[in-house]
Formats: sequence, C-alpha cells, structure tokens
Amino acid sequence: MKTKTIFKNKINIITLGCSKNVVDSEVLLSQLRANKINASHENHDNNNNIIVINTCGFIESAKQESINTILHYSKLKKKGDIEKLYVTGCLSQRYKDELTKEIPEVDSWFGTFELPSLLNKLGADYKHELLGERFISTPSHFAYLKIAEGCNHPCSFCAIPLMRGKYKSKPEDLIIKEAKHLAKNGVKELILIAQDTTYYGTDLTGKKQIAQLLSKLAEIEQLEWIRLHYSYPSHFPLDVLNVMKENEKICKYLDIPLQHISDDMLKAMRRGISKRAIEELIDKIRQKIPEITLRTTMLVGHPGEKDRDFEELVEFVEKSKFSRLGVFTYSHEENTHAFGLKDDVSQKLKTKRAEELMNVQQNISLTENIKKEGKTFKVLFDRIDGDYFIGRTEADSPEVDNEVLVPTKNNYARIGDFAKVKITKADFFDLYGNIVK
Ligand code: SF4
Repeated sequence: MKTKTIFKNKINIITLGCSKNVVDSEVLLSQLRANKINASHENHDNNNNIIVINTCGFIESAKQESINTILHYSKLKKKGDIEKLYVTGCLSQRYKDELTKEIPEVDSWFGTFELPSLLNKLGADYKHELLGERFISTPSHFAYLKIAEGCNHPCSFCAIPLMRGKYKSKPEDLIIKEAKHLAKNGVKELILIAQDTTYYGTDLTGKKQIAQLLSKLAEIEQLEWIRLHYSYPSHFPLDVLNVMKENEKICKYLDIPLQHISDDMLKAMRRGISKRAIEELIDKIRQKIPEITLRTTMLVGHPGEKDRDFEELVEFVEKSKFSRLGVFTYSHEENTHAFGLKDDVSQKLKTKRAEELMNVQQNISLTENIKKEGKTFKVLFDRIDGDYFIGRTEADSPEVDNEVLVPTKNNYARIGDFAKVKITKADFFDLYGNIVK
C-alpha cells in the first residue's frame, strides 16, 4: 500500500449544509489555529493528512451528499492519501450509531455539541477566551452571525430540533463582542442566522429581543449592512419593522420561510399560524416598509397535500409577488411528526409541483427586475467571475439571491467595496449594469 510522505497534522475542514454549519466550522478552525495547529477550510491541496467533515442531516438529498463526501474520503484513507478521518455535524448527531457500523474507515464521529471532544481528538484544547472571535471562511467583507442554536417549534416535517436541540440564545454581550470583532476585521455586511432569529431572547428573558439586538448591532460603526434571515411568521415581533425602518444599516430585507398557505397544510405542518394571519402579516410588513425585499421558502408534497392545496399555494405566490422564493420538496424524515403520516405525494408529483412554483417565481422575478432597468443601486462586490465583477444590492443575500453583473471592460470595482451601479439589463434572476459616480 503506497503511503505519501506528508506534513504531520495538516487538517482540512469540509463544510456541508447551511450557513449555521459554516459558522460552526469557522469556530472549529479558529480554535485549532489558536492551538497553533495547521488547519484550513475547504482547502483541497492534497497535503492534508487529517480531514474533518462537518455534515448536514436535514433532508434526504443533503444526507446523501454528506454520505457521498464521507465515502469519498474513506476511499482516500484506504489508499493511504489521508491518515485520519473525522465526522461531525447534524448527520453524525442523528445517525452516529448506524454510521459507525456502516463506515468503519471514519476514526471518530462527533455530535453537534461535541466541539471540545473533537478538539481534544485533534490534539487541541478548547479555548474559552476565544468566544466572540473567529476566522471567517466567507469573503472578508461579509460574515454570518449565529445568534442562537436549536429550535422549539414543532414543525411536522423538520428534523432540525432532533439534531440541534432546544432553542438557546447566545448572550447579547457575546453577540455584540463577536460583531465588533468581525467589523474590526473588515466585515461590512453581517447576516443574522439561527433556526428562528425572531425568537431570539425568549428563552433568556421571556421576551423577543431581536429588535433590541438589531438596534445595538446598528451602532457598530464599520458595519454597513445588517441582514435578517430565518424569521418565523407566527407571533412575528412587529417592533423589528420599526428598528428596520429607523436604521439605514438594517437592510430592508426579510427572509421569512412560510412553507405553505393552505390552512389544511399549515395545520398538518404544525406551523401555528393560519392563512389569514400570514396574509395580514405580509400586508403589515409592506405597509410599514413598502420597499422591503421579502424572501420566503415553500415546501411542496407534504403528506396530505391535495391538488386544491397546491393550487391555493400557486395563487398565493402569484398574488403576493415575493422578490425571492425558494422551494423544497417534502422529505420523509424518521422521528419527525410527519413520519407517522403516509408519504402519499409521489416523488414525481413533488418535483412537478416544485418546478411549477419556481416557474411562477421566475416570471415574478423577471418582472420585478425589469422595473430596475435604468435605476441606480448601491452594490457590494463579492468576486470577479470571467468578464464580470459580481456584486449584490441590498435586496440580495449571498449565495441564495440574485446578483449584479458588471463587465470588467470599462468598469473598475474593488472586491469588498460598494459602488453605485446603473442597471442596463434585467434577466430572470440577475441584473447587468455599469458603475456610475
Ligand atoms: S422553525 Fe420549524 S422548520 Fe425551522 S428549524 Fe424550527 S422546526 Fe425546523
């Protein structure tokens, strides 16, 4: 068996899944480096002898991607290209016992709350003094800020509470310390994430504190954009809208996953809100901040979803005209409430419904984008891609929303900087334009 001479202990962290996993990997990376251990994130040069995979266990497709990644590195280990393989994150939290038997090449499996023992295995000590400080793996001008862990909601289809536990807010002073640290190191855009950001503080004080937290974050001088993701519709804290309206730094942007609109489906999904209440909430938000960009996520194919439920959803999406919309197909997940129901919508019909809803959204997005032609927007540039500088407006969150493409010919932009861009052409999801003074 061929073994390569490689540098002792060069660790590479691989992250799968959502932005919350990205933050966990960044915390792990920071802890390792603080222990003077040679570690990197998603660095694919083949001198790494230890691989840590931070997995996702949310739905079938994500689980499969995690397992394929583990099997890929298991093969490299068998070939002697790597020495140690460790797995952490949601898939490991959820299926550790089964996977330990099925994939013996993995040296150890760690759950979502086992950072200290993972560090220990990697020859590092957990450093409390690092709380609030971390390297970021995103471009240096934007970062995710995880404000809480876990979730108390009983959504029928969701396995996240099984993997992330009960809702636990991060203390406010720690969040502010982390945000100041990130801002001092060049972050201009902060994206607030949790399973439900609008529930923030309830477990600490019994009251929703997200509006207060946003106000305090807006006081941090270097920050220019503060963006709120993963808000929850039921009992939505309306004071968030006041703070958003009053603070220029807080993006007029709200990510609010609704999942469905028919009352039968909202009930079956245990979302704790009715169609009428959702429509009233959307109206209230738009009355308060007419220029707001609303992003939502819908789930199609949940057990019991009838044609009439889906038609009602299509009608609602056509009428509500969300600026940004993503669609998931239902995944039959063990130990969730819905697992006890019959998965009676075929995969073919789930996919057909998801495509139909995205077609509706594509046209809504194009119509909205065409209205932006000739107008000028503040754009934050993220990268260069081929002949274009790629950036985003305040209405676009990284990795999930639209982009602004500015030709490198006759334009000059610095990555990480803002510039004014006049839109010349609209596409279904993206905009084209030139930098103006
Ligand atoms: S709010 Fe619902 S869907 Fe979101 S993480 Fe919590 S249980 Fe899952």
